[in-house]
Amino acid sequence: MRQKVILVLLDGLCEQVARECMGSLGAWLKAYKGVWLGVQSELPSLSRPLYECLLTGAAPVESGVLHNGIVRRSNQQSIFALARSQGRITAASAYHWVSELYNHAPFDPVNDRLLDCPECDIQHGVFYQWDDYPDEAVFLDAEMLRRRHDPDFLLIHPMNIDDTGHHYGSDSAQYRNVVRRDDIYLSYFLGSWLQAGYQVIVTADHGMNRDGTHGGLLEEERRVPLVLLGNAFNPDCKAKVAQTEICGLCCELLGLEHHKPFPGGVLNG
Ligand SMILES: [Zn+2]
Repeated sequence: MRQKVILVLLDGLCEQVARECMGSLGAWLKAYKGVWLGVQSELPSLSRPLYECLLTGAAPVESGVLHNGIVRRSNQQSIFALARSQGRITAASAYHWVSELYNHAPFDPVNDRLLDCPECDIQHGVFYQWDDYPDEAVFLDAEMLRRRHDPDFLLIHPMNIDDTGHHYGSDSAQYRNVVRRDDIYLSYFLGSWLQAGYQVIVTADHGMNRDGTHGGLLEEERRVPLVLLGNAFNPDCKAKVAQTEICGLCCELLGLEHHKPFPGGVLNG
């Protein structure tokens, strides 16, 4: 199998709200026989530890990235590093912590914000350091990278859902409406990505609680969507996927040699 993969990481999106509010995603799921599997985040349900988990397969206790204040490069093998070392093209439109984990730490906005660097693990990037940088811009930056560089692995990582959750909590019109808005942005591009043969994974790092935080063990903090769209996925899949297996799933799709855990029964054939 050698597929191209787009990983959409909607920061701070709890599964229940995604299921209630993402009607366009539901439409594409039906049209393309996609599959909606939920996933439970590893602990603590915090951003930087779970970016590392999703992109390397290592749970926070294993990676040592246990809270958001740890500013250093990852010491784990990431999808970006595996893909680049095996001749694939990598790209990301993402929050600057992703640049810190896999390219340069600490983030230097002048040098690191807009990046074309063939020897970097993330070879083409647009990184932002503002929590209210518009999600629409994140999707547009990503689509620019996709059209310009034709990446094999593209990470798209908007922050406004998390940011709005911190201001208003998960049980708020504001939080739900930003999820609905991102559902529409996603719908601008999903059709063309699927028609171009991409395998698209939509998930989140962690959810959000009604107090406007996350980090704990509540269902709404840990339970996030895992939506798989593309012809490589088994539409009848009922597998229980661990968050630590999403990295390996991406590696399998990309056809990489790797030693990451990955879930059985999710892929066709
Ligand atoms: Zn947050």
